[in-house]
Amino acid sequence: AALAELLLSRIREVPDHPQPGVRFKDITPLLADPAAFTALTDALAAFCSEHGATKVVGLEARGFILAAPVAVRAGVGFVPVRKAGKLPGATLSQSYELEYGSAEMEIHAEDLAAGDRVLVIDDVLATGGTAEAALRLIRRSGARVAGLAVLMELGFLPGRERVLPALDGAPYQALLTV
Ligand code: IMP
Repeated sequence: AALAELLLSRIREVPDHPQPGVRFKDITPLLADPAAFTALTDALAAFCSEHGATKVVGLEARGFILAAPVAVRAGVGFVPVRKAGKLPGATLSQSYELEYGSAEMEIHAEDLAAGDRVLVIDDVLATGGTAEAALRLIRRSGARVAGLAVLMELGFLPGRERVLPALDGAPYQALLTV
């Protein structure tokens, strides 16, 4: 509870960003506070170790910032999942539906080995579409999903319901639900 209070106190709500009616959760104050960023990294690294992950996947772009120090702290590798067209090597690609239109995420398949157990990390779970696409990419690579961890779940959206089938029994953790 102390951790959740600390983290929540460092997240800023920005009204009407990126469009009217949206209250954007801005994590930059948390990143700028070494005590909060360290506490978040430690909590995610503990989840990573607890579930035997051998790799951490971060989702572009804020997921990179959270996942990279977790990988170092937990002593496992870091692998990026990026928006289409950014990764230079041979990729697996997964498209997913957005509120309006669709988007596409990619991973370097060769960065994951068949024996890897992969923890996916992102800052915010909203509709769950992004995380679901990442989980599919990991399964398609031949690696196993160790779990999904997010800093914050938007509880008024059905993101959790969307990602649970893709997790197929693997653990899910949201450090905060708002
Ligand atoms: P989803 O695919 O709808 O679950 O959206 C999740 C993605 O959008 C994540 O990669 C988040 O970084 C980003 N996102 C959605 N809403 C917010 C927000 O309020 N703050 C920060 N990121 C958000």
